[in-house]
Amino acid sequence: MSVRDLVVLGTASQVPTRTRGHNGYLLRWDGEGVLFDPGEGTQRQMTMAGVAVTDITRLCVTHFHGDHCLGVPGIVQRLSLDRVAHPVVAHYPASGRELFGRLRHASAFHETAEVVELPVAADGPVATGSFGTLSARRLDHPVETYGYRLVEPDGRRMLPDRLAVRGVAGPDVGHLQRTGRLETPSGPVTLDEVSEPRRGQRFAFVMDTRLCDAVYALAEGADLLVIESTFLDADADLAEAYGHLTAAQAARVAAGCGVRRLVLTHFSQRYEDPIMFSAEAARHFDGDIVVAEDLMRVAVPPRR
Ligand SMILES: [Zn+2]
Repeated sequence: MSVRDLVVLGTASQVPTRTRGHNGYLLRWDGEGVLFDPGEGTQRQMTMAGVAVTDITRLCVTHFHGDHCLGVPGIVQRLSLDRVAHPVVAHYPASGRELFGRLRHASAFHETAEVVELPVAADGPVATGSFGTLSARRLDHPVETYGYRLVEPDGRRMLPDRLAVRGVAGPDVGHLQRTGRLETPSGPVTLDEVSEPRRGQRFAFVMDTRLCDAVYALAEGADLLVIESTFLDADADLAEAYGHLTAAQAARVAAGCGVRRLVLTHFSQRYEDPIMFSAEAARHFDGDIVVAEDLMRVAVPPRR
């Protein structure tokens, strides 16, 4: 069975704390493993979380502040150490090409793994495949930062009772799905007659940014939205000054965009009790709210 969930590897902004590691998130999406923003210590957190570097097929870095990329050297070297046979594609802001090169070759190692760099230079799709379309949007932070959005194409859900009524079974079902039409002894059957629209799932990853149009564009209709809420609203002036969001802002984005499950993360170390983030968010968003903890697994909500 295919798995779609988020493995939370770290949740601290700026500096790791006793209870929170630097950022790091592995999105498991069928056969894909997209590692977002590996901060310092991500390699060990993966071990603690029970996931392997062989699970990684793609690396997405939002920007080059240390809490989002200091884990790149360890992860890249581990790909070679573990003889990962498949190529790993790396996306990051194109202005950070030199920084990525330094991280990638930060120390001596025998490089065997294939890391394919596809820097992001503008808004738009960065990759398409069986997983859907991965796209990027420029955010508003003091250094060039991109958020990411993964959208599965809409499809159709087969309806067993209608298939049974029309006498369609076995390999004929696959034929009907591929061609849209099937000849049967009792006449032609079209795909529309025995199926209904199935909306593709959507995932969005919004890191360090002030509120801007791109935040909404990324979050639109997301089944699962992972979004930074560095600050609480009481410190909204700090959020604005440093280019970050508050829990209330993140929650209002989720409400406005019809998000189903909201994952708050990237917390400032100034706050001790994470319950404050969920309480503040709940005042603005009545969907599912998750205050991320290290090593937590968050499922993409089941299809509707
Ligand atoms: Zn950060």
